[in-house]
Amino acid sequence: MKKIIIAIDGYSSCGKSTLANQLAKKLNYIFIDSGAMYRAITLYFLRNHIDWNKPNEVKKALLEIHLDFEFEEETNQSSILLNGENVAALIRDMLVSENVSAVSTIKEVREFAVAQQQQMGKKKGIVMDGRDIGTTVFPNAALKIFVTADIATRVERRFKEMLEKKIIATIEEVQNNLEMRDYIDSNREFSPLRKAVDARILDNTMLTREEQLKLALSWAKEKIEL
Ligand code: C5P
Repeated sequence: MKKIIIAIDGYSSCGKSTLANQLAKKLNYIFIDSGAMYRAITLYFLRNHIDWNKPNEVKKALLEIHLDFEFEEETNQSSILLNGENVAALIRDMLVSENVSAVSTIKEVREFAVAQQQQMGKKKGIVMDGRDIGTTVFPNAALKIFVTADIATRVERRFKEMLEKKIIATIEEVQNNLEMRDYIDSNREFSPLRKAVDARILDNTMLTREEQLKLALSWAKEKIEL
């Protein structure tokens, strides 16, 4: 059967990764959470006290970073490895969330991540979610989905998810973080968050996970069976 690339973009905490992961499982595709890559780079910068306002420091640091994804049978999910270390839980820390959008504005960081993402898509059969997947990483993706949900719903979902993962933060902190990231992501110079002109909008405010999967799956099948 024909394999395609599915690009999923949207604001923070819209459920993009959940949808991408479910779609990939249904289609037997690879799922890549591109945000995890920016988060892992941010974690490396924070741990190693890299001043990301200094281009030379950034360039040198990027040479030391190796990112990989590893499939875990136990959780049935892929985890990101930073230089061989599984940092899937650590990258969800509030300190990383507070700094990741600033790090993601840096041209060298974007070039580093985008080159690897494009390599991963060479064989198609991939669902990738992020902010610039349909616009920059895979402008020719067969299916592009732009996910949205209203801010109150996004805050509630993110807060619940953090509670489950035992990450301490107040609801105000969560809302401020989402709004700050959306602002920086939408207004940065290089590959800002935009809906690609040919992306389909999926507003999941009133949809269950199952309903949104059903809709996205029908769009994917349309493209695959073309
Ligand atoms: O998807 P997630 O919310 O984990 O992404 C964290 C941050 O990484 C985003 O707020 C954004 O600043 C950055 N990002 C990006 N481009 C992507 C994916 C994520 O700039 N393709």
